[in-house]
Amino acid sequence: MSAVMMDGRAVAKVWKEKIAKQTESLISKGITPHLAVVLVGENPASQVYVRNKENACIKAGIRSTVIRLDEGCTQQALEDVVRSLNRDASVHGILVQLPLPEHLNESRVLALIDPDKDVDGFHAMNSGRLMNGQPRFVPCTPLGVMKLLEAYDIPVAGKHAVIIGRSNIVGKPMAMLLLAKDATVTICHSKTQNLPDIARQADILVAAVGRPGFVTADMVKPGATVIDVGINRVDGQIVGDVAPEVAQTAGYLTPVPGGVGQMTIAMLLANTLDAAE
Ligand code: NAP
Repeated sequence: MSAVMMDGRAVAKVWKEKIAKQTESLISKGITPHLAVVLVGENPASQVYVRNKENACIKAGIRSTVIRLDEGCTQQALEDVVRSLNRDASVHGILVQLPLPEHLNESRVLALIDPDKDVDGFHAMNSGRLMNGQPRFVPCTPLGVMKLLEAYDIPVAGKHAVIIGRSNIVGKPMAMLLLAKDATVTICHSKTQNLPDIARQADILVAAVGRPGFVTADMVKPGATVIDVGINRVDGQIVGDVAPEVAQTAGYLTPVPGGVGQMTIAMLLANTLDAAE
């Protein structure tokens, strides 16, 4: 048996086209959705991500401004930029590209973003809303995973979803979204015992670890849906957290690249449009 590959590129394309139409209609009413991205330093991966976000905005008709700050910029300077974007009425969405250089306090910066412009959904107010079942801005990657599951009619209610990874930007919000759709959710992390046994019970297995090939075929129940969130660079290639052999065991599988990453960008556009509306 070979898994159905879940085509994130194709699903994201449909979303992007819908967003472009809605953006056009908003512009005709005198409002141009506007995303401001703050990029600190020269991290090569961050530069690629920011360029991809910028290009996606332009294609959808969304205005994009990138504010580049030096690697050595002070906490004060970064916070001043965020404050001025909060005040700028022409800006609807603010995104601070992570990770920040080590000397900067990430959580203080994220806490400063106006929750109504927090299109990444990382502000504690937006995490709290998601937890309470009253979501406003939801982190783009787990939101994209939910839309991908929907697009492929993967049943979630009553199913056992196992998430490997408990970060604030992927693992935890992923758990909340699956729980809200009535999955039974287990979150695994680096201290989890018997992780392969738990993973093998999953109907939906989400890997958000950051380790190439972490999920092997013996950790997957035959026919399970396997969502590979990982983005790892190995010998100049982008690979996920799921070993290629899993395609022979899983029922559905997201490729890397061309899976979840594409959906993440589409959801960023959706959140920005939502903020502007
Ligand atoms: P992160 O903050 O580093 O979190 C990684 C999680 O994996 C942690 O909870 C960690 O557990 C767990 N982990 C690490 N080693 C483990 C092990 N041996 N066994 C079990 N769990 C282990 O990473 P992240 O930001 O969530 O990102 C995860 C991956 O997704 C990365 O590859 C990242 O590049 C990718 N990503 C992709 C997208 C996309 O658009 N596709 C978006 C965001 C992130 P502890 O908490 O115990 O340390």
